[in-house]
Amino acid sequence: MNNVRTSGPLPVPPQVAEASAQGIISHRSDAFRALLPEVLDGLRPFFGTAAPILPFTCSGTGGMEAAVVNCLAPGDRVLAVSAGHFGNRFAEVARCYGADVTVHHVPWGTAPTAADVAEALRAAGPVRAVLLTHNETSTGVLAPLRELCAAITESSDALILVDGVSSVGATRFDMDDWGVDVAVTVTQKALMAQPGLSLIATSPRALRVAHGGGQRRYYFDFPRMAAAVEEGTTTYTPAVAVLQGLRAAVGMLRAEGPERVFERHRAAAGTLRQALLELGMIPAADAWCASPTVTAVHLPDGVGASGVRRALERDHGILVASGRSAWKENTVRIGHMGAFHAAEIEATVAALGQVLGTTALLAGEVPAPGRHT
Ligand SMILES: *Cc1c(COP(=O)(O)O)cnc(C)c1O
Repeated sequence: MNNVRTSGPLPVPPQVAEASAQGIISHRSDAFRALLPEVLDGLRPFFGTAAPILPFTCSGTGGMEAAVVNCLAPGDRVLAVSAGHFGNRFAEVARCYGADVTVHHVPWGTAPTAADVAEALRAAGPVRAVLLTHNETSTGVLAPLRELCAAITESSDALILVDGVSSVGATRFDMDDWGVDVAVTVTQKALMAQPGLSLIATSPRALRVAHGGGQRRYYFDFPRMAAAVEEGTTTYTPAVAVLQGLRAAVGMLRAEGPERVFERHRAAAGTLRQALLELGMIPAADAWCASPTVTAVHLPDGVGASGVRRALERDHGILVASGRSAWKENTVRIGHMGAFHAAEIEATVAALGQVLGTTALLAGEVPAPGRHT
């Protein structure tokens, strides 16, 4: 079996696969009315919220779109803070729906600081919302979300919409305490289940805004989904099998305990970073903001990511991800989220060392790594 070290979707633990094969039930049945609250309540410690968590059948990008259409009207001024590919995507979604978006770009490989965000907010003037990416999967950078939220709430009443797709379930996320209004995640990353659902935690304020505002939408309506969830169901047919699998996954995460889950991710990231440095490789993220779930590493000059990925898969059965956008060919990304074992991370570094030892075979026309905005 392959060692899948990408940033998702990921193979699911056998318990999760079994749970999702137990047989489809109706979303209007008593069995479903037992299933849904169990799953959503089980997720509360990972979102850090008592607010409604809404399960929409869509990928993470759908969840980002749902946040935008419920909270933003065309013409609303928005500050998007972007430190990479996914930050850019959130800005693009808002722009697509007519928001007047100012993007504050942070150099790839580092995270926005509270001072950056406070300054960007001052420069932007009053905004309806700030869009943040908690864990920028394209660069392997974790933003100091608590501090960013504090900087925002100190000087503004902007809504705080957060892409937590590759962080929720793997690292601390205290939505209520930090003042986050909408937090989006998915089943297929740290939550160890199959792709198919976006889980969106919505603060009372976000729900109030969505009630009277936002913009035209049908399927992605927060208030109607919140009312359905209150009744133990969903507005429309959900990915039932994914929810059944997610129940098992959340059970595993709860049994391990959030603190231990967070520590396991942090430790794997630290060990991996150290091993890469020992190999003479350069992790793309600054040490202070290195992600607990994905590590991007720049390749030596002249070595292309596609060749490295091919060799890792062919000779070692290891799948890693390439870089994104400007980093596509000079970077590989190693995922360590969800149900990984330390041995799989160690095997990946060892294999990477071997593959790079034979880089002569792989040399191609590749630009030197560098920072881009
Ligand atoms: C994976 C990812 C997404 C997009 O998720 P899809 O489910 O592919 O739409 C968005 N944001 C971040 C930070 C991600 O890692």
